Amino acid sequence: MKNLLEKLYQNSNASDDELLYILDNLDSNSEKMLFALALKARKKNYGDAVYMRGLVEFTNICSQNCLYCGIRRDNKDAERYRLNKDEILSCCDEGYNLGYRTFVLQGGEDSWYNDEIMANIVTSIKKQWPDAAVTLSLGERSYESYEILFKAGADRYLLRHETASPELYAKLHPGMNFDSRVECLYSLKEIGYQVGAGFMVGLPGQSNADLVRDLRFLKTLEPEMVGIGPFIPHKKTPLGESEGGTVEKTLVMLALTRLLLPQALLPSTTALGTMDPLGREKALGVGANVVMPNLSPTEYRTKYELYENKICTGDEATHCRRCIEKRINSAGFRADMGRGDHVSHLKDTPQGIDNN
Ligand code: SAH
Repeated sequence: MKNLLEKLYQNSNASDDELLYILDNLDSNSEKMLFALALKARKKNYGDAVYMRGLVEFTNICSQNCLYCGIRRDNKDAERYRLNKDEILSCCDEGYNLGYRTFVLQGGEDSWYNDEIMANIVTSIKKQWPDAAVTLSLGERSYESYEILFKAGADRYLLRHETASPELYAKLHPGMNFDSRVECLYSLKEIGYQVGAGFMVGLPGQSNADLVRDLRFLKTLEPEMVGIGPFIPHKKTPLGESEGGTVEKTLVMLALTRLLLPQALLPSTTALGTMDPLGREKALGVGANVVMPNLSPTEYRTKYELYENKICTGDEATHCRRCIEKRINSAGFRADMGRGDHVSHLKDTPQGIDNN
C-alpha cells in the first residue's frame, strides 16, 4: 500500500486495479499517508493559497428531476424563485466590494434564462468588473449556447458529471443520460472554458468500483476544477430515506483526486461543512484549495435547498466572507482574493493568480 501511494504521488496516475485496491484496503495508517501526500501535492502546486469564489444561487427553478436533489422539478413543496439581472448584479457588486474576483452563477436548469438574457447578464458583469472571472453552473445546454455565453465573457463552467457509472447515472437522472453529460463537458473544454466536473460520494448503490470510474473519468477529461461532496438525503425527494455519504470517504476521494490531478482547483464544499462543523477545514488539509462563500440574498438562501440542513443560509455575505477566512487561517492556509485561475490558463490573465 505504501509503495502504491508513493507511486501515485510520483506519477500522478495509477491503474484502475491499483485505485480499487487502495479504496478497498485503506486503514487508518495508510489513510494518514494518503492525506499527507495530497497535502504535499497541493502545497507544491498552489502553496498555502485558498481561492475565494462568490456564489450567487440565482434560480431554484429546474426542469430536471434528479432523484437526489431538493430543487428537482417534482418537489412541489420547494418555494421557487428567480433573480433578475439587477438583483444578480447587486450580489456581484456586494461581492466585488468584499474583494471577490470570481463570481459563480449557479442555478437549476431554468429556460427562462435563454441565451439572450444570460449573455446579457454575463456581458454586464464583465463590463462592470473586467478584472473578475465569471463562472457559470446552469446545467446542460447546447453547444451553441455554451459558445454564446463564452463569447459574452464567461470564463469557467461547472457541470459535475455526478457519477461516471452510466447505469447509476441513468437511475438517478430520469430522462437524462451520461453520454450527453460527457458531451457537454467536452464541448465546454473545446470552446475554451476552464471546466469543472465532479461527483457525489455515498450515492445509493455506489461501490468502490464506481468511484474508481469517477477517478478514471476525471483523469481522462482533465478538468481544471473538480467538485466533490457527500450525497446528503433530502426528505422531499425519492432518496429521502437513503443513507448518504460520509465525510471520511469524501476526504479520501478528494485526496485521491488531488494526487491524480495535482494542479486541479478543488473546492472544499458546503456539503462537507453541513455534515461536520469542521468538514471544510478538513478538506483543505487533504488537498482542497477553493472555497465558495455565498453572495445570494438572505431572503432566498433557504430556498436553494439542494439537501437538508444546508449551513450558512441565514448569514449575510460580509459574515460569510469573514467566517470562511477565519476557517482558512485556522486550518493553516491563506485566503487569496485573486481570480484564482488554473495554472494552465494563467497566460490569459496577466494579473496572475496571486495578488499578494
Ligand atoms: N443545475 C446545475 C447545478 C446543480 S446543483 C447543474 O446541473 O450542474 C449543484 C450540485 O449540487 C449538483 O451538481 C450536485 O452534485 C449537488 N447536489 C444536488 N443535490 C445534492 C444532495 N442531495 N446532496 C449533495 N449534493 C447535492
